[in-house]
Amino acid sequence: MSVDQLHELPIHQAQKLLHSREISARELTDACLNRLASVEPHVNALLTVCSEHALAQASAADRLLASDSAAPLTGIPFIAKDLLCTRGIVTTCGSRMLEGFVPPYDATVIDRLLRQGSVLLGKSNMDEFAMGSSTEHSAFFPSRNPWNRDFVPGGSSGGSAAALSAGEALFTLGSDTGGSIRQPAGFCGVVGLKPTYGRVSRYGLIAFASSLDQIGPFTRDLHDCALVMNAIAGQCHKDSTSAPVSVPDFTSFLNRGVRGLRIGVPKEYFGAGILPEVRTCVEDAILLLERMGAYIHRDISLPSTEYALAAYYIIAPSEASANLARFDGVKYGFSRQRATTEDSVTATRGEGFGPEVKRRIMLGTHTLSSGYYNAYYVKALKVRHRINEEFQRAFEQCDLLAVPTSPTVAFPLGSKIHDLLQMYLTDILTIPANIAGIPALSIPCGFTDGLPVGLQLMANRFREDVLIQAGHAYEQATEWHLRHPDL
Ligand code: GLN
Repeated sequence: MSVDQLHELPIHQAQKLLHSREISARELTDACLNRLASVEPHVNALLTVCSEHALAQASAADRLLASDSAAPLTGIPFIAKDLLCTRGIVTTCGSRMLEGFVPPYDATVIDRLLRQGSVLLGKSNMDEFAMGSSTEHSAFFPSRNPWNRDFVPGGSSGGSAAALSAGEALFTLGSDTGGSIRQPAGFCGVVGLKPTYGRVSRYGLIAFASSLDQIGPFTRDLHDCALVMNAIAGQCHKDSTSAPVSVPDFTSFLNRGVRGLRIGVPKEYFGAGILPEVRTCVEDAILLLERMGAYIHRDISLPSTEYALAAYYIIAPSEASANLARFDGVKYGFSRQRATTEDSVTATRGEGFGPEVKRRIMLGTHTLSSGYYNAYYVKALKVRHRINEEFQRAFEQCDLLAVPTSPTVAFPLGSKIHDLLQMYLTDILTIPANIAGIPALSIPCGFTDGLPVGLQLMANRFREDVLIQAGHAYEQATEWHLRHPDL
């Protein structure tokens, strides 16, 4: 492989070349930065590129490699969604409200990666405060799908998915509150994992809906997913919701096949609104898993699935309205000064937030207000409880559930931005896993009209191992994940 193709490598191959000194971290970083410079004008995946930081980190990584004190991700270049705080590097959350904000600390996931000697190349574009499904709600510009630049890359972590798919880094990080890792992973033809709620520390993640948010990786394949999870998972004393659960070596679940695994196919995920081509790709994937030795349960039912979207659009805005109260122009970020404090806060929030964020704050303030709290918020929590119970019952009968990631493939830029219900409906198959806090994975399982289709696998809490095992087996038997967009 020539030096100018190094950006295409999966982590597990780059790692071998770095450790045997066939390539240097500096060469790998240069290859990604060059690639990024040539494709970024076409995909607009990034808000910030930090080349100088990256080159300094790459040189430090080369010293670690030379002294034989390298860790698994030493010298591996990555990109982080712009809601992960990065010390000394602008972090905007896709919002004017935080334009120019430079955090004084690193998020735990960033800290863990930098301590290993991974190389941060930049920060990726996103829907403002992670509210959206297309990156069109970014306050700055929309990103584009590398497979067809007239189409969205998905969202809200669309920049992270597009950047990886375009070969700008070896892995990227995103966050998933209602589907924001899995949906863009599906739309851009890469692997995306939303871990169990509590598996990865949220310290330093700018909060959207704290009971739903999880950080996770975008990777080229499941081996890489396991490597990144090994680095970022685990309890952290700075996030009280991070779970005191031991973290296995996720790579030990590769190459185990699917023989004997019980895979459930809940019928509620295959109903009206699913594009026939998407259904065909996912059904073909399930048949393949069956031929590979999995036992397929076709009579699984999750009847409350139809209420998940409605419950989400109560719970998430309620939490957002509380979380976003801190943006008042006093402590940090965008600020407008007027004659009185109240007028200053009103002007700051009026100009600093975009329309979708304002809608969510208003909705959440309403659903939490006295008189409506029981009718909306408490009722949504009851639905959440019911959805949880149904998943628990399903996981008594099966190890995994296999469904489409999204009802459709990527849609054209501009096509849903004025029809918000249609935009919200793109997450109808991903939201239940957030509501229940269970881990879920999207892997490439086909194409239609040149656009990728995602297969979603869900498992019980803290069973990322079984997702990685099954996902890897499927990937070994297929070649979808090896395709690259032509840019
Ligand atoms: N698209 C969903 C929303 O707009 C989910 C976003 C996310 O997961 N961050 O809320």
